[in-house]
Amino acid sequence: SHSHAPGRHAAPPSSLAPNYHPLPIVLHSGEGSWVTDVDGRRYLDCLAGYSALNFGHRHPALVEAAKTQLDRITLTSRAFDHDLLLRFSDAVTTLTGTEMLLPMNTGAEAVETAVKAARKWGYEVKGVPDGEATIVVAEGAFHGRTTTIVSMSSDPETRDGFGPYTPGFRIVPYGDADAVAAAIDETTVAVLVEPVQGESGVIIPPADYLPRLRNLCDGANVLLVLDEIQSGLGRTGTTLAQEVAGVRADLTTLGKALGGGILPVSAVVGRRDVLEVLSPGTHGSTFGGNPLACAVGLAVVDLLAPGDLQARARELGAELTTRLEDLVAEGLLAEVRTIGLWAGLDVQPALGLSGRATSERLAACGVLTKDTHGNTLRLAPPLTISRGDMHLALDTLAEVLREE
Ligand code: PLP
Repeated sequence: SHSHAPGRHAAPPSSLAPNYHPLPIVLHSGEGSWVTDVDGRRYLDCLAGYSALNFGHRHPALVEAAKTQLDRITLTSRAFDHDLLLRFSDAVTTLTGTEMLLPMNTGAEAVETAVKAARKWGYEVKGVPDGEATIVVAEGAFHGRTTTIVSMSSDPETRDGFGPYTPGFRIVPYGDADAVAAAIDETTVAVLVEPVQGESGVIIPPADYLPRLRNLCDGANVLLVLDEIQSGLGRTGTTLAQEVAGVRADLTTLGKALGGGILPVSAVVGRRDVLEVLSPGTHGSTFGGNPLACAVGLAVVDLLAPGDLQARARELGAELTTRLEDLVAEGLLAEVRTIGLWAGLDVQPALGLSGRATSERLAACGVLTKDTHGNTLRLAPPLTISRGDMHLALDTLAEVLREE
């Protein structure tokens, strides 16, 4: 069935839009931390669907939940209630220590929902004059691809060519609480940042950054909105990355791993008095909170509720950090940034290896990662990866960096 160049193709098929540049492999199946291509070659998945696959491929409990639900009911639309919707919102709000949940599908939709809720709260509760709300966002952020979200981006590739842009965003340097303070005025309804910038290369802000943003927001009656679509649900060794900083957001966006790598499931969780501004008819989604999504989402919460995976992310993450620091000492990496089972690594420029070239070499040796930009790579294996497999991936990384 694979008539030519099985497992590899030099150019994307002409019927497929060229908005991605994937590594030259064609995957066919996956189980746990391993995927297999159409030629039967196996790879260790150290990208894990940008953290959508925190529980690995086809986790038995998630597949079981999905299969069971497929035989009951999959979609009602929000015109009708179904028996898993309130259970799902109860489970996720309990897990995250929040008051209310609004279900959507993709990450970008959750961010859009948070922006809409913050603006409406600003007009109806804070008293900002209609149409004047501003939201402070961070340079280097990644929140998604809609026209409003690219309007908050400082990355030319993400932003350029898609105007006219949605007004109302003030972009300030990431990690700089003073810059946020300077950008807040009486029109400001929210500060929206990632607790750790994922797409930017796992950029970890100073320890006092989120606590200072929390204080600034409290002092100015501004909502703190944290985008945990990539950082949340176990990756940082805690259920939410904001827990590491001891901060509680007013609104938090969740996505990716909430759907267990099976289907898109996202949500905004947070304060009841904020989400309540989205009264019936003002916002929604045909598929948001559908029964299949809720069934998988409930099973995801069951996996995270005991806290074992978060502990595992901390333990394996400590070993990951040690090994990557060894590669820095060896002069192969210029810098590493780690939190939980999540690492951003900058290849030593003197090696003359781009992130892309490094990820291609790694793929050829059976380890899948993806460069974020320039000479930066991200490691984010499933939280369920075995200790042995993680060390195998790191052995391979060391070999690839030592290659001439
Ligand atoms: N927010 C963050 C922090 C992300 O990392 C991403 C995706 O990479 C998104 C939002 C957008 O999610 P989606 O691609 O599901 O729209």
